[in-house]
Amino acid sequence: MRVRNVAIVGGTHGNEVTGVYLLERWKENLREIERESFDTTRVLANPEAVRRGVRYIDQDLNRSFPGGEPGDADSSSCEARRAAELYRLLGPGGNSHVDFIIDLHSATSNMGITLTLLNAHEYNLKAAAYVTRHLPHVNIYVIEGHGRAHPYLNALVATAVSIEVGPVPQGVLRHDKFEETNRVVGLILDYIHAINTGQDIECQSALEVYLHREAVSYPRGRNNEILGMVHDALEGHDFRILHRGDPIFYTLQGDTLTYDGDDGLYPIFINEAAYYGEGVAFVLTEKINIAV
Ligand SMILES: [Zn+2]
Repeated sequence: MRVRNVAIVGGTHGNEVTGVYLLERWKENLREIERESFDTTRVLANPEAVRRGVRYIDQDLNRSFPGGEPGDADSSSCEARRAAELYRLLGPGGNSHVDFIIDLHSATSNMGITLTLLNAHEYNLKAAAYVTRHLPHVNIYVIEGHGRAHPYLNALVATAVSIEVGPVPQGVLRHDKFEETNRVVGLILDYIHAINTGQDIECQSALEVYLHREAVSYPRGRNNEILGMVHDALEGHDFRILHRGDPIFYTLQGDTLTYDGDDGLYPIFINEAAYYGEGVAFVLTEKINIAV
């Protein structure tokens, strides 16, 4: 596959500023993100949310592309209108249809550097394998196959990667995460250029990935109020194996609640600030090896 147009997207969530400031950096350092074999476009996804320093204005922009479809251009929702614009700009119906999207995010949870793939497309897996060959601590999270159309911006194209870095507080810029994200973006662009120009890519034949299983909600009361918090024994232990009987919640009344689901899964996005709105305490994944 030959990629002609790459979009690097920041500010999909307005309070995740690593990507927003990387777009600023690249304004003056275009050469960092240019490669001879394709064009690179920089896109600030939700400028109004960035200006106000909030995740979104009316609805989550990154839940506004069901199955890669556009939002409603006449909607009263700021993000539905912006999704329609981004669809015209980047999507299959657009004038400058892009072949590959890199969407930049940050998390308050201990995600390290995580590449999120919406599918197990060979091109995406090989891109991830290329990155981990250079940076072995990078995690790969695959959301494929959980039974509904992906509402994410990256669903606009089949070949795309999100970069999630954490822990970073919302609205905060951190030197280490800024540099690491820049490095990972550079590696993905190097990979695309190498494939475009027919270079042999050396990468491992099997890739360790964390496959999405399910989101786990906080314990709730009758009126849907949160009755407990993430247990101290789980806090910060993203990508560490979880066993039945391990403490996961500590109730407001001081009780410990333990895990009783499938043994040996791996929790991620633990106590993620952005997921309180949805009541999600963490996400369970299964560690598997995928052939690439
Ligand atoms: Zn985000």
